[in-house]
Amino acid sequence: MRETGARGARQKKTCVNEKRCGSCRYLSLTYEEQLKKKEVSVRKALGKGLTGRVMPVLGMEEPYHYRNKVTAVFARDRKGNPISGVYEGGTHHVLPVEECLLEDVLADRIIGTIRGMLKPFKIWVYEEDTRRGLLRYVLIRRGFATGQVMVVLVTASPIFPSKRNFVRALLEAHPEITTVVQNINPRTDSLILGDRQQVLYGKGYIEDELCGCIFRISPASFYQINPVQTRKLYEKAVELAGLTGRETVIDAYCGIGTIGLIASSHARSVEAVELNPDAVRDAITNAKRNHITNVRFHRTDAGEFMAKMAAAGEHADVLFMDPPRSGSTREFLNCAARLGPKRIVYISCNPETLGRDLKVLRTLDYRAGEVWPVDMFPWTESCEAVVKLEKQVH
Ligand code: SAH
Repeated sequence: MRETGARGARQKKTCVNEKRCGSCRYLSLTYEEQLKKKEVSVRKALGKGLTGRVMPVLGMEEPYHYRNKVTAVFARDRKGNPISGVYEGGTHHVLPVEECLLEDVLADRIIGTIRGMLKPFKIWVYEEDTRRGLLRYVLIRRGFATGQVMVVLVTASPIFPSKRNFVRALLEAHPEITTVVQNINPRTDSLILGDRQQVLYGKGYIEDELCGCIFRISPASFYQINPVQTRKLYEKAVELAGLTGRETVIDAYCGIGTIGLIASSHARSVEAVELNPDAVRDAITNAKRNHITNVRFHRTDAGEFMAKMAAAGEHADVLFMDPPRSGSTREFLNCAARLGPKRIVYISCNPETLGRDLKVLRTLDYRAGEVWPVDMFPWTESCEAVVKLEKQVH
């Protein structure tokens, strides 16, 4: 059955920023047309004969305001008034955005409130050219299941005049906010978060609930931005892994431990690996928080981890892998094959690098079966997919 959902999906919406923002390239299509297009593009990227069936894309019932994470860039307009929004496609010019069809509505409101507070609190917006001013970005993360809201104020310097009063006024306007963090980013590159931060209110992280587990999410940790679709993605991944409770499992590129922790009740043990130290810290807390004792986390490069496991002659029954957009590496894939898992479940947010890696895995005797595309990013061109690979027996 095709789970595209007809209700909200059929009602097409428009956006005044469509052309200049450039994110929603599929806004002129119906949701159905868009899903079909994504299915075709996944099939094309993966190439003929590389996989089994590419299934119809798992779509959303209400494909709007799905983003639980919203980032706004702050700047000033010609008259010197603070504005916030996104960089206009490929430039460093800030396009003012008040509301967005993809972003969480509350998050956009909070950003609007902060924008309005800057003048009365005499907070200067950072200027890229002169490198003067304080506020650079605001990042909002919201746990859709728990309702918890995190506000991260990214500033160019640690000195934030009258920050107590600022936070108090913000909380008065939005009592839904559960934590406020100041992140200090004096750098000139395009990364949003700097290395230093200070909790101004609450715990400094939020929690969300997904597939029966509670997850703690810090400002810098990766967490899927569309929780409604993430549930479908993870459930499909665990289903494709065919776990019986006896398997030793690897969760590579594990982030805050989501997939490994969700799969752990169906496995004997899980070894999970992740490079980002904040994410690993969250992952370890998440295991404790959910009383899970059969998952171990390793903070290192996934390729190096696999190489060490292979050199030690280790074996794994099932491998989950969920690399970033750039895909995996030769080292990782070669060593993964040496561990001899009978199944690999590959989760990818980039069909191009997925296709490339599936070709390598084929030479290593892993044949891709069903491909399940999941629409994590409605109205944009991106498409997530989960693929099951099986070891060929000769
Ligand atoms: N499986 C997780 C995270 C997927 S995103 C989830 O579903 O939430 C990809 C993750 O890979 C990120 O957390 C990123 O920090 C991590 N990563 C990127 N390069 C890596 C590397 N070389 N080794 C290990 N982890 C890496």
